[in-house]
Amino acid sequence: MNVICYKRVSTDDQADRGFSLQHQENMLKQFCQLHNHNVVGIYTEDYSAKDFDRPEWKKIMLFIKRNRGLVNMILCLRWDRYSRNLYDSLTMNKTLAKLGVVVTTIEQPLDLSNPDSKLLLNLYLTLPEIENDKNSIRTTEGSRRARIEGCWTGQAPKGYINYRDDKKSTLRPSPDAPLIVQAFERVATGAYSVDQVRKWLNGQGVPICKQVFLNTIRNPVYIGKIYVKPWKDQPSQISIGLHPPLISEEVFHKANEVLDGKKRNMKFHDDKSDIYPLKGFLKCPVHGTSLTAYACKSHTGKLHHYYLCAQDRCKQRHRVKDVHQSIEDMLSDITISAHTLNLYKSMLERIFDREDHQRKDEITRVKGEITKIESRKTNLDERFLDNEITSQDYHSMKEKVDKDMVHLRVKLNNLMDQKSPYKTYINKTIPMLNNIAEYYRSSNGETKKKILSCIFSEKIVLEKGRVATFSFTTPVRVLIQSVKVLEEGKIKQEVENDLLSCLAPLSVESCNRFSQLCWI
Ligand SMILES: [Zn+2]
Repeated sequence: MNVICYKRVSTDDQADRGFSLQHQENMLKQFCQLHNHNVVGIYTEDYSAKDFDRPEWKKIMLFIKRNRGLVNMILCLRWDRYSRNLYDSLTMNKTLAKLGVVVTTIEQPLDLSNPDSKLLLNLYLTLPEIENDKNSIRTTEGSRRARIEGCWTGQAPKGYINYRDDKKSTLRPSPDAPLIVQAFERVATGAYSVDQVRKWLNGQGVPICKQVFLNTIRNPVYIGKIYVKPWKDQPSQISIGLHPPLISEEVFHKANEVLDGKKRNMKFHDDKSDIYPLKGFLKCPVHGTSLTAYACKSHTGKLHHYYLCAQDRCKQRHRVKDVHQSIEDMLSDITISAHTLNLYKSMLERIFDREDHQRKDEITRVKGEITKIESRKTNLDERFLDNEITSQDYHSMKEKVDKDMVHLRVKLNNLMDQKSPYKTYINKTIPMLNNIAEYYRSSNGETKKKILSCIFSEKIVLEKGRVATFSFTTPVRVLIQSVKVLEEGKIKQEVENDLLSCLAPLSVESCNRFSQLCWI
């Protein structure tokens, strides 16, 4: 009998399940030897397809047709190597029968001339399929259970490497971890676009594409948690991972708020503010518009900078050098004695404390909320342990409670922090007013702008490059007035009363105005 041996792999096969090509070939050869069959060809299909549209199979059919009558049998290890589809198999069997060829398998021999064999064939063809399906369910179920227990299944996310700890698959930080932490922190500031941070990360040697980076920022794995996908009637849930977190919950939530567009602190840097710090503070007396700034080259090639009115044929044009000198001269004139500043300082402290009750009330309220959530959390744990609620409900409620908690903590921290700008202002900024001119001179353009906005309440009008018309903000005006009062020789108590009466109503304004200086 002349036999063609046919072996085939398919993608869902595993070598240890006895389907390896070598194993198939050994079995086929042994079988033929045992039965004294003459092997006329061995074909290996390295191709997985549901029907018979396979390259090696086509060669077999061609060989059979060209050598009609030569081949008597096609031999496979099992029926699923032949096909996994009953209809295709029966059709192919008929075609082959017409060519005088029968199909036989070593492990599942069938007498195809017997109609009952069709039932068995059906079984042989569908059983592996059923087993495959079962396996994949087992894997899904298994991996889901592992994730619920805090294991990590699959490839490690950026910043981590796969790791086996006590036979459990988990993660540990990779050498890239500090860069991932920095990326989160950068996103959380809101000062960069998400893509800027991604490109920075790429520049640091961590290649990451847009979508993966977005998924990274949203992945709770970085706060030590694991997202478990919904499956069948089970909802999604978040479990506590066995791996260490890289990111604090606060930074994580801040970064995600930025991603969701809830928070933006975009800071736009004006590159020219170092050259033209007064841009935006000057106005044209004729047109009332802001002066703009520009540079032009003289015939000697030297660069000259000007503030000028952009209106057609306006004569307002001042050399930047002159204007800056004039402003510095003016600031030098604002001399506030250390004594006056001390008075001002102690008064502000009193006023801040008095007006701070709103913030303090809010802190008390938030602290109360936190206590409430904490007891809710304990209550939830108890009810779960007492089997009063299902695990499903427990996880969804716990997730919500945890999220509320983080929001409250962030809120509380922000409220606590609010105190510091005023304190910094009192301790740092006020002494600085002692020599505002020097401070201004040594600052960069951006800081200069902030200082100017603290001092001038309206735009300045220039005349021949010198400050001509201006008006001080109230705090500065009050301070300058009090200096005059002191010079007039009034006694200390009187000065204090004057100051207090001036300051009380404008404490909020001075606070708001000067507090931005504290961020410098
Ligand atoms: Zn003008």
